[in-house]
Formats: sequence, structure tokens, C-alpha cells
Amino acid sequence: MKNLLNEANNCLLCKNARCQKNCPINTPIPDIIKLFKENKIEEAGKILFENNPLSAICAIVCPHENQCSGNCIKGIKGEPVHFYEIEEEISKNYLKNMKVTKPKSNNLKVAVVGSGPAGITVALDLAKKGYDVTIFEKNEKIGGVLTYGIPSFRLPESIINLIGQRLKEYGVKIKINSLVGPVVTLDKLFEDGYKAIFIGTGVWNPKKLNIKGETFGHCHYAINYLKSPHLYDLGQKVVVIGAGNVAMDAARSAKYYGAKKVYITYRRDFEDMTATKHEINETKNEGVLFNTFKSPVEIVDEGIILADTKKVTNEDGSTSLITIENSEKLFECDSVLIAVSQEPKNNIVINNKGLDVKRGGLLYTNEFGQTTREGVFACGDVAHGASTVIEAVVAAKRISKSIDEYIQNSLMEEIEFTS
Ligand code: FAD
Repeated sequence: MKNLLNEANNCLLCKNARCQKNCPINTPIPDIIKLFKENKIEEAGKILFENNPLSAICAIVCPHENQCSGNCIKGIKGEPVHFYEIEEEISKNYLKNMKVTKPKSNNLKVAVVGSGPAGITVALDLAKKGYDVTIFEKNEKIGGVLTYGIPSFRLPESIINLIGQRLKEYGVKIKINSLVGPVVTLDKLFEDGYKAIFIGTGVWNPKKLNIKGETFGHCHYAINYLKSPHLYDLGQKVVVIGAGNVAMDAARSAKYYGAKKVYITYRRDFEDMTATKHEINETKNEGVLFNTFKSPVEIVDEGIILADTKKVTNEDGSTSLITIENSEKLFECDSVLIAVSQEPKNNIVINNKGLDVKRGGLLYTNEFGQTTREGVFACGDVAHGASTVIEAVVAAKRISKSIDEYIQNSLMEEIEFTS
């Protein structure tokens, strides 16, 4: 607590705070720090929760170096204020101790498909307004990537469990092991009286490398591996292909669960990696090794064949990457994890007519989150592609307003029609 007070005292409480402006959900950072210094912790927690129901999670997983701390004025000449550490302390306590009064029901049913950050936010927002919300989640636990992607050594499951508890106290019904698509269709949901349906199903299909050997027993897609890393026996030497946050999480998990040597293997250099600097540093600190300028050619029983690459400068000054001829070599390893992005699993789309998709299988929505089917809304990764927790929450806050307006307008139309 003492350290956090020091951290808070470091803040200049800027009037036009750059940290707040660069926070996607506009967290009122100087106000929160002021309340924290005055020991008004509960008040601060309430403000944070009302603004962002996943504040306790975002404090841990947001790419702060691009947002609050990366834009702190103090960081220009020295150490920025690490607001997120203060936010974590306040928001975790608030989530643990908050008292929920169940809102009065308006008896209007809304179905929320998927319980990731987008689904949780929409469910909470609408439940607070009195809607009778049911979440349909295909897995046995809620949270989406928070539970089945981000490793628990980075994000403790206890926080997601607390959110689940609060959802229920707000009156949200949670149906686990409930896939919407083939059997429970959107038609069926409308027949049962749901006034609107929200789709927040994320992106769960791994992208392929499109090289030989990807189906071999010692080769796995990172997004699948991360669902239950403790169940895999990867052996001693593991190669991870890719350099985004998923690759970092897969490499760190492989090390955490016992592999002696883990290599992140990437076609380009450190500066091109899409993972945050913080994630890359954590991964390095945990002893993961980096193999840059290597391109995967084929997966074989003994390991993986890699070719060397190099960056060349073109006549117009741009750079491109070339593979060096005859540089292919076997890199021996026990397992290969592929982490080169994800796209939607389209259970809902295949089995339900009327939902148009964009390139890459993402659901088409307009600015209000409406899909091409009346009464069906979507946001989060399934609509804008693999992104971040906070982007899913920001979109979900906006879309829950659209759903409310849509239902209220439909009711008005019904009344006008019958009178
Ligand atoms: P998801 O979290 O994917 O949730 C979708 C939910 O829908 C899942 O629970 C799924 O089971 C369910 N579902 C899918 N289809 C159906 C169906 N037909 N019926 C019922 N349920 C269904 N972002 C950060 O900000 N910081 C990080 O550190 C970070 N690390 C990440 C690490 C990994 C390994 C991955 C994969 C992503 C990471 N992200 C991170 C990205 C972030 O987690 C996602 O952008 C975010 O979770 C998207 O939220 P969502 O609600 O749209 O989807």
C-alpha cells in the first residue's frame, strides 16, 4: 500500500491528462488518484466499475505502454506513473466487496451469445437496466480468452469468478456448455421470446501456416494449446512460431509447465513484433530464447525446418523481407506451437441465414452494432477482428445502448400499431 501511495504522489494530476485521453475507455485517472490519496477507495472503485466493469482485469492486461503509462508526462524524462497498479488494487477490492441490489425486472429477454469481455459487458449493462439477460457460453467456464487464452499466472481466475458471481447477483442467467448455432439457433431464440440477440463469440479458429507437417502429433495451434496447457506434454525443447501476444503467452506457458528450452521463432526482428514491449521483456526474463529472421518451411518428425530471411531496402526506400536461398536447416525440437493469429469459428454464421460476413469471416455490423439480421447485434473480436480486452469493452458499452434503444423503439412501434 505504501508503494502505491508513493506512486500516487508521483502523479502531477494534470488538468488535460494525456493518460486519460489515451485510455480507450477514458478512465478518469487524475480523479481516481486524488480519491486514492484521500483514502476514498470505495468511491474510486465504484467510479472505475461503472465506467469499465472489467477495470480489475484491464488493470492487469491492457497494453499500458501504448495507453496510460506510455503517455504519462512524467515518462518523458523519467519513470511514468504506473496508474494501473493503483487501479488493480482499487478495482479488485471493489469487486470483492461490492454490494449488488438486483434491479427491478422489465421482463424483456435478451440473449447474449459468448461470455468474453464483450458478452460480459453487454450482459451487465442490460441487466442493470432491468433486462432479463441469459448468457449462452459454449465452454464450461465464462470469460472467453480471459479464461481460455490468457494464462492464469498472468490473470488469476479468481477475478473472473468474482465477475461471474456479480453477474448472477445482477440477475443474469448463465448457461454454460451451451453452443448457439447448430441446435439452438437464432430462430429458436426469437421463437422463445428474446427481444434481441447479442453475438460476442470472438475469434477461435487458428490461422494455418500452410506448410507441410502442420497436422503432426507434436505440432499444435497455440490458441488450442492455451485452453489447457497443463494437459499437454510438449517435451523439453519447444519452438513457437509467431511474435504476437499469443505467441508470448504460449512460450511462457510452455516454460511454466516444464519445457527446458523454448524458442520464439520469427521471420523478422524484435522491432516488428506485434507483442507489447512489456510482454516481450517478461518472456525474455522467464528464459524464453528468441530466434529472429527465421521462416518456417516444413514440420518434420525431428523438429522444424527453418530458412534464413533478411530485410532488403528497395529502390523507393521501403523494405521487404526475402528468404535466403538454400539456407534451410533442420532445427530439432520436441514440439511446435503455431501462433500466427486467429479468425472466427463460424458456427453461428453457417447455421443461421441472414448474417453477412466480411473478409476473414468477421460479422458485418453497422455503427450501431447491428448485423444484417434484424434484432441481432455483435461486437468484440467477432466483428472487428482479434484486438484487445478494452476495445471489446468499449464497443460493448456502445452496443448495449443500441440494443436498449432498439427494444424500446420496437415496443413503441408495437403500441402504436395496436392502438
Ligand atoms: P472472446 O474473449 O473470444 O469470447 C468469446 C466467447 O464466446 C468465448 O467464451 C467462446 O467460448 C464463446 N463462444 C464462441 N462461439 C460460441 C457459440 N456459438 N455459442 C456460445 N458461445 C460461443 N488482450 C488484451 O487486452 N491484453 C492481453 O494481454 C491479451 N492477451 C491475449 C492472449 C491470448 C492468448 C489471446 C488469444 C488474446 C489476448 N488478448 C489480449 C485479446 C483479448 O483477449 C480479446 O480481444 C478479447 O477477449 C475479445 O473479447 P470477445 O468478448 O470479443 O471474445
